[in-house]
Amino acid sequence: MKNRVVKIILSSVLICSFICGCSGAAPEPEEIVVTDDIARETEAEEQDEIRQETEEDEDNEDNDAYTNEAFWFCDDDAIVNQKAQKVFEDISRINDGKEIIVTDDKGYITFLIGSVIEKQCITEQDFNEALEAVLPALSPRSDLQFKLVEWLMDDKGNRFVNFKEVFGEDINDINTVKLFFDPEGKMYGLSSTILPFSNTSGEEIDDKKAVDIVIDHMSKDDPGVTYTVVPDGVKRKFTHQTNPYSGVEYLKEVYVVTTNNPHQGEKTSEAPYLDHRVGLQGAYMDSTPAYVNSEVDNNRDYGILDKWFSRASITSYKTSVILGDGIQRDIEVPVVYDDGMYYLEDPKRKMLCAEYYDFKYKDTIRVISSKTNDDWEIDDVVAYYNYIKCYDFYDDDGWTGPDGVGGQTVLLMDYVDENKQPIDNLCYLGRLENAHLFVATSEGDGYSMSMDVAGHEYSHAVTSYAVSGIMYKNETGVINEGICDIMGELIELKDCEEKGIELQLGDIFAMGQSTGVAIRDLYMPTLGEQASEVGGLYFVPSVSIPDDINDHGGVHINSGIVSSICGEMYFDKQIPIAVLQDIWEVAFSLMTPASGYEELAKILPLACEMSGYPELIDDVNDMVLTKRLGSQDPFEAFPAGFVQVKFTLPPWIDWTRTRMVMRDLYNYTFVGWPQKGSNTIYMVVDEGSYQIQLTEFDIHENAIGSWIYTLDGWSSNKDAKASYVIVSADNQGVILEPMKLN
Ligand SMILES: [Zn+2]
Repeated sequence: MKNRVVKIILSSVLICSFICGCSGAAPEPEEIVVTDDIARETEAEEQDEIRQETEEDEDNEDNDAYTNEAFWFCDDDAIVNQKAQKVFEDISRINDGKEIIVTDDKGYITFLIGSVIEKQCITEQDFNEALEAVLPALSPRSDLQFKLVEWLMDDKGNRFVNFKEVFGEDINDINTVKLFFDPEGKMYGLSSTILPFSNTSGEEIDDKKAVDIVIDHMSKDDPGVTYTVVPDGVKRKFTHQTNPYSGVEYLKEVYVVTTNNPHQGEKTSEAPYLDHRVGLQGAYMDSTPAYVNSEVDNNRDYGILDKWFSRASITSYKTSVILGDGIQRDIEVPVVYDDGMYYLEDPKRKMLCAEYYDFKYKDTIRVISSKTNDDWEIDDVVAYYNYIKCYDFYDDDGWTGPDGVGGQTVLLMDYVDENKQPIDNLCYLGRLENAHLFVATSEGDGYSMSMDVAGHEYSHAVTSYAVSGIMYKNETGVINEGICDIMGELIELKDCEEKGIELQLGDIFAMGQSTGVAIRDLYMPTLGEQASEVGGLYFVPSVSIPDDINDHGGVHINSGIVSSICGEMYFDKQIPIAVLQDIWEVAFSLMTPASGYEELAKILPLACEMSGYPELIDDVNDMVLTKRLGSQDPFEAFPAGFVQVKFTLPPWIDWTRTRMVMRDLYNYTFVGWPQKGSNTIYMVVDEGSYQIQLTEFDIHENAIGSWIYTLDGWSSNKDAKASYVIVSADNQGVILEPMKLN
């Protein structure tokens, strides 16, 4: 895609943070046979219960007194409703009733296929007019102000016009409306994320007080450990939250205080910084890992990159390598020569390879060099080559560099902690100045040789610019992960096509297969213990509080639902790689920061049309239906042959920080938690015998309560005997006994 103006944000996302089951010695098992009386309800009873739950949910949504949050909606409902009604009528008239509309649960449009304006839109003024015409149908807020921040044009001439909310002096990166037009200016449709704000009443603290609150909280919670606040590391930011009782998403302004991460290098904690969030009235909320910090990391002299990229003497290094899949690949990478030394550096693509340790712990960018151009580390060369292929894949379609405007790429090699111990991960660290930083190799991680894994990381950078403000949680996070897997695979398959490499059938669309061990399968996700449809085996629901304990709402566990659509398009419908690339690139350009499954169900057919393949729309609609992307309630149905297990949590357990694990006789593990806004856990598993454990966590992901299911029901006694619960599939579902306070 060719783009005009691109606004910049910082984002960092990880690839391999899979959830592990709870460990600990399994107590001697006893068998429980779940009998008809306790295991099954009649269908009528179950229906009744679903109805009751729905009514309760609706009650809660209207009762925000639960949380002391007052939502800003509007002053006069009647006027707002009239305006919205008029817009819906206009849309129906303009499109002869053929428009396709997805709404949020209040009825406001989140995705539309159809036009909102009769005239053709070419100029900035036209785009503003179109937005103004539809705004009352997008949100009840009467105070909304939007600004056109960028528009992109793809190689077919389609325009993607991106508006962000102006809030006071700031741009709110989350509230976004995108309008789409064909080359003649006829509107294809729109995508919208507009969340309400919440204001909590009470006196506001200042930024110094926010720092005190963080230090005080952390020293109590984590005594004996030193937290230092990054200089100037306090900011006011918009953040998204979920009401745990209603499931309603909203925005809130908070202080973000950045400190060092004293646990860096320990398991699952590789980020150098922590961003702590504190409410404006002084409540400590939580902390999230942060990978770059502009105040500290900008001490490095990035200006030096420009000097390097202007070095003129370019040669190359050629080698061939046999990867873990047994296939030999010939590779060639650009190398520059300067004053007696060779450097792994590409002035054309503005890409270079540097040592992670020097970058991180010595604040210097030391480009990987050689005196002879024949003694490079093979990991470095392969990773460098893989990122070059990523760059070229997008560049061929007009998207230059990770950000689309030719930003620099710095590949940091050999991910280690301060003691030079390998850190087992690869990731996109984000952007500093004009440089995009990727951790590209680690001795603790075999995936640095995989082009599809590199493609996944590179695509995170691309999607974070194409959909700036995108939420890394729940359905949006799942779609983001799924699309990055898809693009990663397409990059690798295109390279194989160019080289004439024929992969084994099972290796096509298998993430990381070139290492010999695939981590995810984009055609049969369940092979990698991933969900392949909403409400099916392994499926996990969205959460109120995204965290490592719940894979941020299943972003990796569920991503196969999205990525397998591409796998099926390739294998079942024989759609070529180049066509898939066109369709999925358009698909993520149609997203806004909170687009979910229902929106994706309409985004995909529109992406087929906009990329010039309308003949594929019917097939894609069928796949979307099979995946149940449009379903309102993921657990209202589940596939035949499996069992749905249901457990309702008691009120003395924090629903938002709880995880249930079911482990069968062969140690296959299933995880589940309550859907946001609900206290009921549903899990879909195979028939079999399971030990069941429930764990409650605190805000730092420490387990603070644990219960196992025994002959006598739930027990918190560590010495109690866990029992095997036999679940069998009669399409009735299994209900676990309620927990008693003991
Ligand atoms: Zn990822």
